[in-house]
Amino acid sequence: MGVTYSPAGFDDHVIGRAPAFAYVGERLWLDFVNTDDARRGQRVDLLRDFDALVDFLADAAVLDAERASGMRRRAHQQPAGATAALVDARRTRAALRALAERGAHSERARLDALAEINRVLGRSAVTRRVEARDDGTFARMFVPIGDAFAALIIPVIESAADALIAGELDRVRRCGDPRCTRVFLDDTRNGRRRWCEMATCGNRAKAARWRERHDAEADGTAPART
Ligand SMILES: [Zn+2]
Repeated sequence: MGVTYSPAGFDDHVIGRAPAFAYVGERLWLDFVNTDDARRGQRVDLLRDFDALVDFLADAAVLDAERASGMRRRAHQQPAGATAALVDARRTRAALRALAERGAHSERARLDALAEINRVLGRSAVTRRVEARDDGTFARMFVPIGDAFAALIIPVIESAADALIAGELDRVRRCGDPRCTRVFLDDTRNGRRRWCEMATCGNRAKAARWRERHDAEADGTAPART
């Protein structure tokens, strides 16, 4: 344990690409679940193609730029293999979403996720490397052995396995906005984080509360305190 998770976010190699992924989950596996996003209640799959999967892992700093471009080249040469890896990654994501949303209370969800974790671990292998990054920090990288496509998802799987082992599931929450499907680990000391992001859902809720109070005061009814 003791692994710090510090997504790089937007690095020099991704300049020119529209910002897509929100690394707000505090854990890689939760950020991965959040690639199945929602905007105004509409489902938006940010893993729209294989390159997006590679981008997600590169931005999360578990795949370095050189290997990321290697994977993209390989996907061009083996499009069927890349598509299969993407479909499989989405399957894993669905199992991990169930774990994030119900894992704390449902043994079924935990056991299903465990089966998925072991399925992925059983068919692909990686070696780990620690690499010095340009900014002077260090990052753990995963280097596939054998089927490189299948192994791409291993860092995500390891992260979910860590959550099970560390017993973190009771601090995994879904965003307080019912239209938002994002999940996150509540790392606050008082355990009261409610929103995926203050900048979006948090501010929307604050604005809605303000409007409610304002309207109530305007028509003379008592403000509803929640
Ligand atoms: Zn949200």
